Formats: sequence, C-alpha cells, structure tokens
Amino acid sequence: MDVYGVVGNPINHSKSPKIHLLFGQQVNHDIYYQRISATDENFVGTIERFFTEGGKGLNITVPFKEKAFQLADSLSNNAQSCGSVNTLTFSEDGRIHGESTDGIGLSKDLENNQVSLENAEVLILGAGGATRGIVPTLFASSVGSIILCNRTMAKAELLQEEFLPYGEITCLASEQLSGRFDLIINATSASLSGEIPDMPDTIIPGSVCYDLAYTYGETPFQRWAKQNNSAKSLQGWGMLVEQAAESFYIWRGVRPKTEEIIQRLQAELEN
Ligand code: NDP
Repeated sequence: MDVYGVVGNPINHSKSPKIHLLFGQQVNHDIYYQRISATDENFVGTIERFFTEGGKGLNITVPFKEKAFQLADSLSNNAQSCGSVNTLTFSEDGRIHGESTDGIGLSKDLENNQVSLENAEVLILGAGGATRGIVPTLFASSVGSIILCNRTMAKAELLQEEFLPYGEITCLASEQLSGRFDLIINATSASLSGEIPDMPDTIIPGSVCYDLAYTYGETPFQRWAKQNNSAKSLQGWGMLVEQAAESFYIWRGVRPKTEEIIQRLQAELEN
C-alpha cells in the first residue's frame, strides 16, 4: 500500500487524512495517509526519513511551506513563483519534487461557486504563506488588479516587490481602503482567533467575500461579510478539498470528483 502524509505543527486538527481517504475510496486506490508532527529542528530529518522508508508523497502545512520550498530538489514553475510548497513527491530517481496547489485549489473553488477572476478587482487581506500561495494563480487567471492590505505593512511591501515579475500589486493600509471590490479574500489567520481583520465595512456591500479559513459553521469574517450585504460569503472548505485533489492527482494520476466530497464534509459539519 502506498503511504502519504501531511506534515505540520499543530497537526492534530488536519482534515487531510480524511479527505485523501475519501478520494482513495472514490477511485479505488488503496492508500494510507498519516498526520506527522514536526519541529523547526527536525523538519528536514522527518521528511528525509519518510521518503527513505518508502513514503510516496507529503502535504506540507503551516508553518513549514517555505522550508519545504528550500528542501525540494526540483520545483514546478508555479512553486517557484510562490516561493512555497505544499506538495512533495518522491520521484523514481530519488529526488524530491515540490509543487504548490493552494492557488489552483482557490481558483477551482471560486469557479465551483460561479465567481470569475477575469478582470476582477481583488483585495487580499494578509501577507503570509497563504497569500504567497495564491497570488501567482490570481495573476495567471488575468485578474484586473490586486490590492494587498496587511496589518504589518512592511510584509505586504516585501511581497509586492517579490511578485513584481508576475504583476503589479498595490499595498494599502486598512484606513486607505474604499470603494468596492469584485472579490475580497481574507488570507489572514484572524478567524482562527475569532477576530476580523481591521477594515472598513463600507467596502463589503456587493463584494464576493472569501475567507480562506474554514471552521464548523460560519467563520467570524464570513458572518460579518453576510451582515454587511456581501454578494457572496464563502469559506475555505472547498479550497481545502480542491487543493488536496490536485495533490492526489500529482501522486496518483487520477483527479477525484470533488463535489461529492465537499458536500459530504459540509453535511458532516452541519450535523
Ligand atoms: P501566516 O501565519 O503565514 O500569515 C498570517 C497572516 O494573517 C499575516 O499576514 C498576519 O499579519 C495576519 N493576521 C493574523 N492575525 C491577524 C489579525 N488578528 N488581524 C489582522 N491580520 C492578522 O498564515 P497563512 O498565510 O499560512 O494562513 C492564513 C489563513 O489561510 C489561515 O486561516 C489558514 O488556515 C488559511 N489557509 C487555508 C487554506 C485552505 O485550503 N482553505 C490553505 C492555506 C491557508 P502580520 O503580518 O501583521 O502578522
């Protein structure tokens, strides 16, 4: 049986084992998928041991996506642009290949929810690993513009500079935000502590709001966006399943049907 896993810290909450198990059942692939906790000190050794013991592929989550980028022997063009990696594959030649599937996960989930990126005016809140993972895909999807707003302005400006080869990003402080956006992406981790990133509620009416965070019920940002008359208010379950499906495809050569898995997870969450 081929063995896969997800490495992160904390990792106990990860839904990836369940999602990949459901994918395997759906396409009749007998796989084993485990959660692996690592630390900054033992991350590289953990990855190397997993692969030398016969493991086939790993997902990488917070806080190790940039370390995985450094560790990979080869990178896809997309991973190269992102500067982070969430999928490692052990090749036949013994090399570790890195890809980032977060961007495609988001764009597929937006497509599933009839949200078009073409020419869209996009506001991204947050300038961490998740933003890094989605910006190249947004540029590749021909968005009209990207405004980046982060609590720590210097971090936003760093990303602005790094992504210059792919497109132009405008950095604004929250008090400078005005008007309306086609899409507002909450890529901060504020929801994880029950908070809403600092921003004026006047920009919400008519905008599609997407919180990358996912939870049981609504996230605080999702609830707040709804209360302020957003056009749609979505959270990251769909993205989670779609990015996992892309990893599964890289490893197994078969793309699982995601709709039934998303519905099944959502039904479980509501009960
Ligand atoms: P990081 O830790 O790399 O970055 C966190 C970002 O959030 C930083 O920009 C930080 O700002 C900002 N932030 C944190 N708390 C607050 C707050 N209270 N108010 C305003 N800004 C805040 O995290 P990631 O980028 O990896 O993850 C961000 C979110 O995306 C998480 O909720 C994660 O679960 C989700 N995610 C979802 C995925 C999915 O498949 N659905 C995939 C990947 C991520 P500062 O720079 O000032 O510290």
